[in-house]
Amino acid sequence: MARTSLQCRECKKNYDSTFKYICDDCFGPLDVKYEFPPVSKTTFANREKTYWRYFELLPIEQKSNIVSIDAGMTPLTKAVKLGEKLGLKNLYIKNDSVNPTFSFKDRPAGIAVSKAKEFSMSSVGCASTGNLASATAAHAAKGGFPCHIFAPSDIEMAKIAQALSYGANYIAVDGTYDDANRIAAQIGDSKGIGIVNINMRSYYVEGSKTLAYEVAEQLDWQVPDQLIVPVGSGAMLNAICKGFEELQDVSLLGDVSNMHMIAAQPHGCAPIVNAFKTNSSEVIPVEHPDTVAKSLAIGDPGDGRYVLKRLEQYNGFAEESNNKEILDAILLLAKTEGIFTEPAGGVSVAVLQKMVEQGKIDTNDKVVCYVTGNGLKATEAIMEVLQKPTVMKADVGEISAAVN
Ligand SMILES: *Cc1c(COP(=O)(O)O)cnc(C)c1O
Ligand SMILES: [Zn+2]
Repeated sequence: MARTSLQCRECKKNYDSTFKYICDDCFGPLDVKYEFPPVSKTTFANREKTYWRYFELLPIEQKSNIVSIDAGMTPLTKAVKLGEKLGLKNLYIKNDSVNPTFSFKDRPAGIAVSKAKEFSMSSVGCASTGNLASATAAHAAKGGFPCHIFAPSDIEMAKIAQALSYGANYIAVDGTYDDANRIAAQIGDSKGIGIVNINMRSYYVEGSKTLAYEVAEQLDWQVPDQLIVPVGSGAMLNAICKGFEELQDVSLLGDVSNMHMIAAQPHGCAPIVNAFKTNSSEVIPVEHPDTVAKSLAIGDPGDGRYVLKRLEQYNGFAEESNNKEILDAILLLAKTEGIFTEPAGGVSVAVLQKMVEQGKIDTNDKVVCYVTGNGLKATEAIMEVLQKPTVMKADVGEISAAVN
């Protein structure tokens, strides 16, 4: 018997687990519902160091359908030096920049591609702001699927090179992410492609909830007080909440209702922050996103409304940071903790800093800041705040003068 079914997030109508993502009755999104088997801390303790260690809590029926590139179980670093700078005694960085394709997107992409295998689909794809392209393409390569990427044409060159290397059919769309998304949705439906973040979205988001599972396990099954999450579509923030709630349901965690969720967006594409600050429950799309944080440049966030609900549920906040603050935060994280992140991670750290300054986070709070992508993916932008080294003659005398 299948362990999972689907349920409409809005009207709660139930469906069997099939290739389906929107409710027939109300067009709401469908979420995966589980019959969880009994699990305990020891169930997971000595397993492989990937997110597949939580197999019982994931929506794949047969282990033989797993398509894995060994993503997950990334470090939760106790950030003592950054904490000292910011005035925090219990700061942790969840460093997802060191996943196999160098972003957290290996989590949702891996689950969705595995589910596409379970559904016997013949090809996969995604609409991407950059990182999902590589995560989907790498899993497609491993699983033997043709892969179609739809992405705005102006993303970072490193991300394009990476996705192309995995052998994907890469469509660079002259437009915004929302344009690429709309086209991917139509082509996915008409050609029967499993578009991981559109028609496979119910399964896709299940991957991101492992960001909650791992943090909980790495904190020895304690609930953090504050979680700072970078937000594009809002799928990850929503999934992290779902992950903590599920751990409470299976009695691995106590009460999770006192944690605080903080949504971090870049100025220039902060539709959820705008709605939060004007007390609106509707997210007004940003038509022309303009930010150095290209992986968060989603003007019309699919899960925006649900992020607002989560912030209300968990007494959270939404805050933005501008390009300069983002780039400064990248350098601050690098210089204190030795972690090199792309602008999305800079958004998290910059917003964390603001939350402390605004008195919304206390010195003793257990704080988890999600750093979701690697700095090597966005060197063009980061070089703008760095000095390019001058080339020197290979002469010990001249060079020794530069070494003080
Ligand atoms: C996609 C992405 C995000 C945002 O995730 P959503 O689920 O779209 O909110 C954050 N950080 C990085 C590095 C990303 O690639
Ligand atoms: Zn419904």
